[in-house]
Amino acid sequence: MRQRPMTIWVLAALGLAGCGGRAPEGATVIYAARLYTAPDAPAVDDAAILIVDGKIAAAGPAKDIEARGADSLGACDGGVVVAGFQNSHVHFIEPKFAGAKEKPAAELAAAMTAMLNRYGFTTVVDTASDLANTVALRARVESGEVAGPRILTAGGALFPKDGIPIYLREMPPELLAGLSQPGTVEEALEDVKANLDGGADATKLFLMTPQGNGRYAFMQPDIAVAAADETHRRDRLVLAHPTDIEGVNLAIEAGVDVLVHTTIGEGKTTWDAPLIAQMLSKNMAVVPTLQLFPYELKRAGLEQRIVDFATGDAVEQLRAYSSAGGAVLFGTDVGYMSEYDPTEEYRLMGRALSPMQILSTLTTAPALRWKDEARRGSVEPGKDADLVVLEADPAGDVANFAKVRCTIRGGRIIYGTTSPIG
Ligand SMILES: [Zn+2]
Repeated sequence: MRQRPMTIWVLAALGLAGCGGRAPEGATVIYAARLYTAPDAPAVDDAAILIVDGKIAAAGPAKDIEARGADSLGACDGGVVVAGFQNSHVHFIEPKFAGAKEKPAAELAAAMTAMLNRYGFTTVVDTASDLANTVALRARVESGEVAGPRILTAGGALFPKDGIPIYLREMPPELLAGLSQPGTVEEALEDVKANLDGGADATKLFLMTPQGNGRYAFMQPDIAVAAADETHRRDRLVLAHPTDIEGVNLAIEAGVDVLVHTTIGEGKTTWDAPLIAQMLSKNMAVVPTLQLFPYELKRAGLEQRIVDFATGDAVEQLRAYSSAGGAVLFGTDVGYMSEYDPTEEYRLMGRALSPMQILSTLTTAPALRWKDEARRGSVEPGKDADLVVLEADPAGDVANFAKVRCTIRGGRIIYGTTSPIG
């Protein structure tokens, strides 16, 4: 049996650990210096969360929780606890995730930990990848063999006819050849159905793609509309990559559910009130991916002044969309972006949103968008025990969202200093 940390004994000695109430058989308890059950709920200090069968059985002031006899999660105690995070824009396309069916579990677990588990992600949305490989990866996570988040995937994306974006052209030729570029509505429907039948949770549309030298390819509106309608008919979500305002307009026309980026361009990217009103009328959610812009623009060799201007424009889009009441979902494009640490994303979001608004983009907003709010998104009895233990309070500094001590999914530690699995 593991050594229980000092806090448990102190709490027990003070009579705080449950007032003598005995925990159910097999229960686990986490003690928190501070608990945020939800972004709009007041913080609870000296709290405890009781976990039974992977679900939250109780959460609140430690003195009210019947935790006597419960197992401890050891070094996870004493931090700031929030609900598990969702990263709504990731990709499982790096070689470390290839061959997911056969790759040793330890290698996949290490890749998963480096990119996602260590930053508190208990749910991720893979917004384009090789569907069969991602489905195999998901199966190994769900079997408990590989420690990792719940994976929602868009599988193979649809691109405009002859419209593979310039930044994907260096992919291996055999992968490029397999990308969907429907030229007709019939071809698009075939690809959408095959993707969803193969296990995808969503359809991803690249509506407008850069072709180099200032040229763009556009998906035909009738193709985008048909692909979106078929996806909605099957009660799945439509995700879209807009690139620019024209792509946003096409997304509005098609009825896209989630825009996976804000937009940057040559001074014509302002999201004005009429555009935002149209996006809201379609109940569109936006994934800002702010950190991606300086990452890409610096790689392209642009001067700092331009990088700052473009990034500031994206921050203003986030501010405008959020203050108009639009749904915002946290996401970083990690996996495509090789910078795994999301600290800069939190800092940039913090220019437009409060810490608790950022928490909602990580928890309640994505759970609602994926119609899974009964199961996750907040720390409430009956929900999955998906939890993040932070080293310090993000209300004081949003960079603390990235300082993760433990990540717990369904009551199991998937990242932490004690009892890791996988
Ligand atoms: Zn992406």
